[in-house]
Amino acid sequence: MPDQRPCLADDATVPRRVFVAPGRAARPIEVPGSAELATCPFCAGHEHLTPGEVARLPESAALPWSARIIPNRYPVVADGDDALPAASDRSPAAGPRAHGVHEVLVESPRHDTCILTVAPAAWRLAWEACRRRLAALAARGDLAWTTVFKNSGPAAGASLAHVHSQLVGLRFIPPVVAAELTGAAAAPFSRQLDEAAAEERVVAAAGGLVALVPRAPRQPYEVWIVPRAPQPWFHADADAAGALADLTRDVVGRIRTLAPGADYNWWLHQAPLVGAAPPGWHWHLEILPRLSGIAGFELATGCHITTVGAAESARRLTSIRRP
Ligand SMILES: [Zn+2]
Ligand SMILES: [Zn+2]
Repeated sequence: MPDQRPCLADDATVPRRVFVAPGRAARPIEVPGSAELATCPFCAGHEHLTPGEVARLPESAALPWSARIIPNRYPVVADGDDALPAASDRSPAAGPRAHGVHEVLVESPRHDTCILTVAPAAWRLAWEACRRRLAALAARGDLAWTTVFKNSGPAAGASLAHVHSQLVGLRFIPPVVAAELTGAAAAPFSRQLDEAAAEERVVAAAGGLVALVPRAPRQPYEVWIVPRAPQPWFHADADAAGALADLTRDVVGRIRTLAPGADYNWWLHQAPLVGAAPPGWHWHLEILPRLSGIAGFELATGCHITTVGAAESARRLTSIRRP
């Protein structure tokens, strides 16, 4: 039996890292249809189909859960020292072990397949459960960086339709974040916020958070949610979960009005958990609709092509009347 535990492979010439996770080949890909509800592992009543939960809200087991967090059954990283193989157990070509945390946040006990049908109060609880879990992961002391990301719809890589996100904790700073840290040192987020306001690229605001179209959106209607004041970590921002819940609902509502049924990804960019917090860093959530494919040109160049630029994306997004 080949070793199924995830490991890392680094490219020889560029800062590219691949997670080799053979066990993920066994994960189920749901075919939407009538059988979906009977077998969905994320619906209330089907908890026996998932690993035991590591966190939930409400916390009291006497109450039905509104959001729950479970280990990912098909992780891209392995947690704990049992992930360390015996030397004889390793192929000489295998890279270092991929250590870390990979969990699933189930965002509704009902079989909601779009965040817009989750009740607003439950949606806020889902983000608060996420924030508390990220804080707990940060407190472990062995992780260098954490994130939460969402794949919504098949074009965005979702394999199950029930609303959920994934939490990942790594022991290194990924290349995209390292590049952002360098970039933000030269062009701080505060300047980006000022520019977005001056250029009318602000789509919405709630609490201390702003939803804006970035200067170089990769797809039509790309939006970033950024706190107005410097704050390295979402999990350290006790008031942020409610506002982030409200803004993600608002932004996805606008995107799906302009592009009905659009698939999308989002991901959280936080500061590293190790070392000093970078000055002037603002955590942020990047929301990327998946309206056109990421294809040969993008893979060849690292550049993106969009048919709708920043100003027009912002004009259309702000033209939507939200309740
Ligand atoms: Zn379900
Ligand atoms: Zn970012």
